[in-house]
Amino acid sequence: MNTTSLEQSCTILTVDLAHIATNWKRLAERVAPAECTAVVKANAYGLGVAPVARALFAAGSRTFFVANLAEAIALREILPTATIGVFNGLLPHCEKEYQHFQLLPVLNHLAEVERWHCYAKKCGRKLPAFLHIDTGMNRLGLDPFEVAQLRSSPHKLEGIAIAAYLSHFACADIPQHPLTAEQAQRFSLARQGLPAAAASLCNSSGIFCSKKYHLNLVRPGCALYGLNPIPTTTNPMKPVVRWQGRILQLRDVPLGETIGYGASYCAHRPLRLATVAAGYADGLLRPLHSRIQVAIGTYYAPIIGRISMDMITVDVTDIPCEAIHLGDFVDLLNDSLTIDELAIASGTIGYEIITALGRRCTRRYME
Ligand SMILES: *Cc1c(COP(=O)(O)O)cnc(C)c1O
Repeated sequence: MNTTSLEQSCTILTVDLAHIATNWKRLAERVAPAECTAVVKANAYGLGVAPVARALFAAGSRTFFVANLAEAIALREILPTATIGVFNGLLPHCEKEYQHFQLLPVLNHLAEVERWHCYAKKCGRKLPAFLHIDTGMNRLGLDPFEVAQLRSSPHKLEGIAIAAYLSHFACADIPQHPLTAEQAQRFSLARQGLPAAAASLCNSSGIFCSKKYHLNLVRPGCALYGLNPIPTTTNPMKPVVRWQGRILQLRDVPLGETIGYGASYCAHRPLRLATVAAGYADGLLRPLHSRIQVAIGTYYAPIIGRISMDMITVDVTDIPCEAIHLGDFVDLLNDSLTIDELAIASGTIGYEIITALGRRCTRRYME
């Protein structure tokens, strides 16, 4: 690790690539013989797509999904031979880019099917794509009427090599939610009468619902990055992220003084405070509404007062003086301070926390 950049850093995000690889392998073993792919959209959920995608490829993943064309072109540079699917679909007038970079659009509605079909005809060869069938998200994907049209007019699919049919669960993170079984049923019915091809239904949570949903390939994202795919159970994944902020100042605050913006916190006893470099511009969401702890060595201390753009104030009154020094780094996230806990305290989900991390942090990668 680079000590120069450490000296110059105020906030550090350390990403454990070995644990990401382990998480992928665990999922791959769990779903075998189905193929385990990797979802690396949004800059690999904020962790840095280049090192993360390389680590996943080295672990064995050969198919990757991103959200949009720009992400896909960037990923093609990183992984020259991987299969790359683009969830947002086939933007008009961009057919050439998809073909040039050998990207597979996820065709989400009939107009996209039509355009890929025409482009394949123009190229004089079959072009691969995923075909997304909506089964209850009502966000992207062919609706039942469009599926029926494909069934009655199979020529619409001529020239398209269907890599797999996709559908996406709405409630797989809630065990036994009735919509999950309903969606699986609708997906299976929708595929009847369409050309035979592989099928894919599971995100991370879906993988843990039932083996029967694994089908031919699964599409985990959050579980690779250590988030808990089924929040009501113990997390089966390895933690991936350590997030640290530097102590910029230590100060004593007399009884009755207020702390930070809005004077929202009043010292009910004389306090010793550590001002730590990490704020909402680093991804520590300002609505953090319950007191959360940071770790200083083996001690824990609560954040008090409002979250600022660049810093927080931590109540270190009860930590022995010799255990805490100006310039030390405190842990905001580590193996025991989890993203999922921080998300609950912030009134959101782990996905929002992780994708917001590291916009400004120094990122370090452990192989
Ligand atoms: C983001 C996404 C995934 C991955 O979801 P996780 O819950 O992070 O595992 C899978 N499929 C689709 C269509 C997605 O948009």
